[in-house]
Amino acid sequence: MLNDLHETTDWQGLDAAHHLHPFTDHKDLHARRVRVITEAQGVFLRDSEGHKILDGMAGLWCVAAGYGRAELVDAAAAQMTKLPYYNTFFKTTNEPAVLLAQRLAGLAPEGINHVFFACSGSEAVDSALRTARVYWQTLGKPEKKIVIGREYGYHGSTMLGASAGGMADMHRQGGDLPNFEHVLPPYWYGKGGQMSPEEFGIYAAREVEKKILALGAENIAAFIGEPIQGSGGVLIPPETYWPEINRICKQYDILLIADEVICGYGRTGKWFGSDYFGIKPDMMTTAKGLTSGYVPLSALLVHDRVAEVMINQAGEYYHGFTYSGHPVCCAVALKNLEIIEREGLVAGAGRKGEILRAAFTEALGDHPMIGEIRGVGLIGAIELTTDRRTRKGFAKTGEAGTICRDFCIENGLIMRATRDTMLFSPPLIITEDEIATMVALFKKSVDQTYEKVKSQVAS
Ligand SMILES: *Cc1c(COP(=O)(O)O)cnc(C)c1O
Repeated sequence: MLNDLHETTDWQGLDAAHHLHPFTDHKDLHARRVRVITEAQGVFLRDSEGHKILDGMAGLWCVAAGYGRAELVDAAAAQMTKLPYYNTFFKTTNEPAVLLAQRLAGLAPEGINHVFFACSGSEAVDSALRTARVYWQTLGKPEKKIVIGREYGYHGSTMLGASAGGMADMHRQGGDLPNFEHVLPPYWYGKGGQMSPEEFGIYAAREVEKKILALGAENIAAFIGEPIQGSGGVLIPPETYWPEINRICKQYDILLIADEVICGYGRTGKWFGSDYFGIKPDMMTTAKGLTSGYVPLSALLVHDRVAEVMINQAGEYYHGFTYSGHPVCCAVALKNLEIIEREGLVAGAGRKGEILRAAFTEALGDHPMIGEIRGVGLIGAIELTTDRRTRKGFAKTGEAGTICRDFCIENGLIMRATRDTMLFSPPLIITEDEIATMVALFKKSVDQTYEKVKSQVAS
């Protein structure tokens, strides 16, 4: 059967006939035909028509060690041969899960020494929020239930994840459970108006405090935030923001959950976004970079403060997944972390991020349609604007971003567009030559986009 499918159009036809895609308008997809990705090596993808595409997004922010790493394949094969699966429910464990838990406790910020495994970022977020509930119930404060998140926040696509996140479209389709509140994101470029970034950082953090005071700290379980909001547009908070959030969570006795699903494992040039910003989390959710996407795995990292209550006081925790602590996934994660460490990819992300931003600035810093180039390590964003001076957006939000993203793909580069903000997050193994290629392809795409929309752009 499979061997009968030779033509790209065969795959596309079957895909349209049977495959429902995540975050996709299917009518629109079927009108255009889906792209079939067939193989990948390093930072490059190949599709069924032979196009070579530089993956400026590392898949979905996850392929840290790059494609085609034989060591990861071998680690999976060896573990599958020895013990492909067993659960961790019934007073049992397995060697890779134990070793990975120890390794993660060693990497995590001080005071974080326990790990709960799941398969996706969404499940890690669910687990964090369930844990927060149990923590407060155990301490005799069951009314502490509300979770505060932020507009444009992304915490996954389960009901809890969608509700904790601040994506209006996801809320509208039913991902809006009670006991979730959302406040202003620390998005200076888009929301800072006349304030300096430093002033705005404090202002945005105090929006959390205002919300706490309005709802009563006695009703609030946790604040959840990505160190850098990824899917929402790579929103990098001013440096005043997180220290103020630390203070607020401590003062009002609210758990601080850092959603490190994107930032974790080196992307910012530090092991965790919490290290970069000085965040003092009670829990950290991690996933994506943990296995470089080769197999699905997430890890909820828990501070002693919470772990002590869960272990010594809470009794049985009625929560877990068939694949929690999956031996194959944990074995791949261990090998992936070994590669990240051996190849110096964490410090490398910091260094190469500076090279990448300098190259973007050199190529596009004076372009009339570029409002801001920002980044930390190898995650960043470029704002398209109609007026550099006022940071004004396009009349129809998302139009220029979509045009630019489509030109990028046509030119052999994957970038992502959120509204009219172009996002990048290449594999951490990207080389300086590949950075130069990425910037050249992007500049070409921006110039082509400008040709289409320049009647709207102030010169
Ligand atoms: C991707 C992401 C998630 C969800 O992870 P899945 O593996 O897709 O469930 C959660 N939080 C953040 C910050 C993410 O970027």
